[in-house]
Amino acid sequence: MDWRADHGEPGWPTFLYGVPLGGDRVLLEETSLARRPGLPLAVLRRRLAARLAHHGVAVPPDAVTEKVSFPVDTPRHRAPGVLGFGAAAPLVHPATGFSVAAALRLAPAVAAALAAHLPADPDAALAAARATVWPPAARVVHHLRRIGLEAMLRMPPERVPDFFAVFFALPERRRWSYLTGRDDLAGTARTMGALFAAAGWELRARLVLPALLPPARPAPDPAPHVVPGIAPNG
Ligand SMILES: Cc1cc2nc3c(=O)[nH]c(=O)nc-3n(C[C@H](O)[C@H](O)[C@H](O)COP(=O)(O)OP(=O)(O)OC[C@H]3O[C@@H](n4cnc5c(N)ncnc54)[C@H](O)[C@@H]3O)c2cc1C
Repeated sequence: MDWRADHGEPGWPTFLYGVPLGGDRVLLEETSLARRPGLPLAVLRRRLAARLAHHGVAVPPDAVTEKVSFPVDTPRHRAPGVLGFGAAAPLVHPATGFSVAAALRLAPAVAAALAAHLPADPDAALAAARATVWPPAARVVHHLRRIGLEAMLRMPPERVPDFFAVFFALPERRRWSYLTGRDDLAGTARTMGALFAAAGWELRARLVLPALLPPARPAPDPAPHVVPGIAPNG
């Protein structure tokens, strides 16, 4: 997670997400986490090209490309007669975009809840499955995570990397609870408390106020930015 602005652009900060895939292959993604609305893919492509050029990394012409854009603030699924599961639930963590581990962990319990009532009573099966996906603690944790997302969306762009730096300086068990414990209300609250304690006063105000404010308004379109040798539309 490389926050250096080696892409040479001002504005909403993005980072390079680098994952070794094995076999001399590496995934390199310019990532915006998160923005309302999402940063246009053309901006991310342009920044990635500039960042890699800055480091003298030549991208092979046959490199596989991935275009990624997904919401992290979908409302909880409440359609009648339907169980929202996976990204549709949403099990997506509003601060990370991850959902796969939560879905895998919940799947056997949801299947068992359904099986306990089917085929005799589909309504009871749905109610039991919903209660498994959204116990009260998970609802509160999801609400707290969305407040965290709003705090980030309201940060001045230059403060976003500092916010992540404070979070990643927390003890591992605190980070682990916040990132993985979707029904661990005590752990999530302790992590938020630890983040507050570790932050300076300005960041503290930015962490608390979003709980009292409406959702952050959409950010304006990023200004076109011309990088020498790279077309503005990527
Ligand atoms: C590049 C990338 C990296 C990621 N890395 C991670 C990671 O490391 N860890 C992690 O946890 N998450 C990661 N995510 C996010 C994760 O992949 C998604 O949250 C996850 O795939 C959601 O799974 P899902 O099955 O719920 O939904 P989806 O994968 O969106 O599957 C939904 C399926 O339903 C189909 N569908 C939609 N509407 C209908 C309809 N009306 N009728 C029938 N079918 C329909 C769609 O075509 C799709 O096949 C990453 C995502 C991307 C793009």
